[in-house]
Amino acid sequence: MRFSGQKALVTGAAGGIGASIVTRLRAAGARVAVADRDVTGIEADAHLPGDLLDARYADALPLAAAGALGGLDIVVNNAGVITRGQVTDTSDADWSLSVGVNVEAPFRICRAAIPIMAEAGGGAIVNIASCWGLRPGPNHAVYCMTKAAIASLTQCMGRDHAHQGIRINAVCPNEVNTPMLRSGFARRGFDPDSAVAELGKTVPLGRIAEPEDIADVILFLASDAARYICGALIEVNGGKAVS
Ligand code: NAD
Repeated sequence: MRFSGQKALVTGAAGGIGASIVTRLRAAGARVAVADRDVTGIEADAHLPGDLLDARYADALPLAAAGALGGLDIVVNNAGVITRGQVTDTSDADWSLSVGVNVEAPFRICRAAIPIMAEAGGGAIVNIASCWGLRPGPNHAVYCMTKAAIASLTQCMGRDHAHQGIRINAVCPNEVNTPMLRSGFARRGFDPDSAVAELGKTVPLGRIAEPEDIADVILFLASDAARYICGALIEVNGGKAVS
């Protein structure tokens, strides 16, 4: 049980990748606090529902998790939203939503978690950026910008807080078979199963990622096996880099 005795907070726990992270962390011995707008029915050790756009909720989450679990060793900032379109298609609401969930909430959570972890001698934070945060794809200008922002913040925090024994890294997936991707296909009138199968043909490994493919890398980064990795952006793309 490589996470035996460790305490973890996972945001976006009700989503595709989030659910897989929670299941795997608990199976590996961690105690896990789950955060999402609705956490009903999720098997976990603490339930902390709320809206990450509420600054007071995001600011308070790490302490709430530490209080509920008896400490905090791991934070996974996984919650995210995707808005489509070029800048000229982007409403004020899309801007605020994307920046609020994808950048401001992880900033607030890291800012609150770091002193708790430092006081206890260290910890690990894993942020979920995107391959589109490294090299932007078309027609998702603000989404790409938010993922570049969290990637940059990860690099900065990874360097600034290493001396406190806190390792901060990010995973940068390409397409993953989750509600985020599938609902986008459905909204545009495509059958999600066929669209996912078609998309898989564009990936050198022959399929898009399943949530578990990403969760395993997140667990690696959170674990002692990654003890010398700090401020890294790990692309997980089945061989399909965005050019
Ligand atoms: P998902 O939509 O299945 O899950 C996202 C979760 O975040 C949802 O459960 C949602 O309720 C939660 N969330 C969103 N806004 C929130 C808010 N205001 N307050 C609280 N919770 C909120 O998506 P996923 O694919 O599992 O995405 C997980 C992460 O992976 C995201 O950061 C996403 O940007 C990133 N990512 C996904 C893909 C992909 O293709 N699916 C690719 C690259 C990166």
